[in-house]
Amino acid sequence: MRSSVCVFALLSVSLPAALAVVLADPNLMINGITFPTRTHWMRLANQALGEISGSPCPFAAFGTVIVNHTASEAGKLICMGVNENGNTGNPSLHGEIAAIKNCTSILTDPHGKFRMSATQAQDAFADLTLYTNAESCPMCASAIRWAGFREYVYGTSIDTLIQKGWGQIRISSTDVFEASFDLPSHARLMGNLLTNETDPYFLWQYDPNYPCPRGCSRTRDGTSCMASSK
Ligand SMILES: [Zn+2]
Repeated sequence: MRSSVCVFALLSVSLPAALAVVLADPNLMINGITFPTRTHWMRLANQALGEISGSPCPFAAFGTVIVNHTASEAGKLICMGVNENGNTGNPSLHGEIAAIKNCTSILTDPHGKFRMSATQAQDAFADLTLYTNAESCPMCASAIRWAGFREYVYGTSIDTLIQKGWGQIRISSTDVFEASFDLPSHARLMGNLLTNETDPYFLWQYDPNYPCPRGCSRTRDGTSCMASSK
């Protein structure tokens, strides 16, 4: 036990001060982007659920948007993604991976707006910000670092997901980012943005008394939420 306590203490001490400040206060203006702009894109990550999956309350309610803020503070949407495990059978298609895949297709589409080569598309991620309504699992956090994103912003934390009954691999994004210092790119990490709006998408699945997300209601047996009929 003693060694695990020491390891924890070491990690706490080695957390870069700037990273700790950003994690503590998502209201800060980072890279010249205001809090209202951040919240706009996080809300769109929530809305991606309804736009792509067709339901505002899919069980795996993980939504992502990828945005370019480098040309304007407001940012331009490049692509969206949601968890595609259930409808593709591909267990690695978490929302973030699906979004990265969608963006790559859009950036390299020979008839599209960007028409980039593979190399240009890979380089383009250095200008992009990924917003996800829940903290990425270590697979996705690693993919975000491999992609070389400029920024990564999440809403609901892995700790909250675990507390509310979700099975998770207990490695935080902060830990993944800290361990990726050998990579040539650097990414800003902002956590816990707009959790009052992202948390409700993840708190109903294992708590039959928690209200369904807006636009949804409990199924008759109370075990799930589904889109309300209009
Ligand atoms: Zn993931």
